[in-house]
Amino acid sequence: MRTETGINMPEPHNPGGPEPATHNRQPATGNRKPVKGIGLLSGGLDSILAARVLVDQGIDVLGLTFVTPFFGPDEGLEAGRKAGIPMRAVDISEAHLAMLKNPRYGYGSRMNPCIDCHGLMLREAAKVMQSEGADFLFTGEVLGQRPMSQRRDALRSVEKLAGLPGRILRPLSARLLDPTIVELEGLVDRERLLDIQGRSRKRQAELARRFGISDYPQPGGGCMLTSEGFANRLRELFRIRPEAGVADAEIIKWGRAFRLPGDNMCMVGRQRSDNLKLESLARRRDVFMRSMDYPGPSCLIIAPGDLADGLEIAAGLVASYSDAPENASVRVQWMTMDQTGILTTKAGPKNNYKEILIS
Ligand code: SF4
Repeated sequence: MRTETGINMPEPHNPGGPEPATHNRQPATGNRKPVKGIGLLSGGLDSILAARVLVDQGIDVLGLTFVTPFFGPDEGLEAGRKAGIPMRAVDISEAHLAMLKNPRYGYGSRMNPCIDCHGLMLREAAKVMQSEGADFLFTGEVLGQRPMSQRRDALRSVEKLAGLPGRILRPLSARLLDPTIVELEGLVDRERLLDIQGRSRKRQAELARRFGISDYPQPGGGCMLTSEGFANRLRELFRIRPEAGVADAEIIKWGRAFRLPGDNMCMVGRQRSDNLKLESLARRRDVFMRSMDYPGPSCLIIAPGDLADGLEIAAGLVASYSDAPENASVRVQWMTMDQTGILTTKAGPKNNYKEILIS
């Protein structure tokens, strides 16, 4: 078929309707072992389509999705199901957090270091490629779709970061990019790859329809690092605890976040599930607090430094966000793994704390 650009576009394997993807159907390459590609599937339509375009060539495809405190595997696993390919989830939490503190290519509009993040994922995928004896990696990236991370030079930077020049195939834009090694070697048929670029989703929607893929997620979302509120929490965490680890990053996902004096930070539950989560995440040095007299939030102070004033303010937060009427006296219990105590404070207007709310 012809595209708007006048370049031949491959007919999907089953233009008439849905068909489960199949594997190990190889292009005519003699007795060579099956060509195998390892794909990064984030959950969006593009990576589903990239996988299907390759499966349609008879290439054996394994999908990877990643786990960090900021995004989980569910969307990627679902994408793999829609693409009809086997999937594997890889936990890269430690490496991702280390990268996040000092990304070589900086952040996007929030705390999202997308170029470095892609580079890291591809490096991890390269390990799988090696252990699986696969031939190449692929992604669903589309040239020019995102202003920062999908520019031509950004795509090259990612390849360099991953130490994989020429080994990363972008099936949806491949014909607008330099041929990769597997295309040059004839393992992947470049003529059956695509030439999509830009922000329009029209051609992807059309391709999805032809592959019989419906009910796919809209792009974007899913990564907490792109949220302004979460980015502010994370900046504060890195400021007060440069050595913050995965467990700290996990804690700041729950409830409301407040600054406390002495370079401290606490989380105050919004709802019962936050309270339970904060309690379950408390570590030896964290301070866990709750109201003894009224139903209300739990509070967790992240492994505090000097808490001379902070403890009393945190107790005030617990009282003020509880069901206690204004000015009621409230006993707040605090506890670490080794110590416990009770502070008596007054419930006040929540507005009193808006200066220290991290939003
Ligand atoms: S949006 Fe989040 S998950 Fe996606 S590349 Fe950027 S940092 Fe990584």
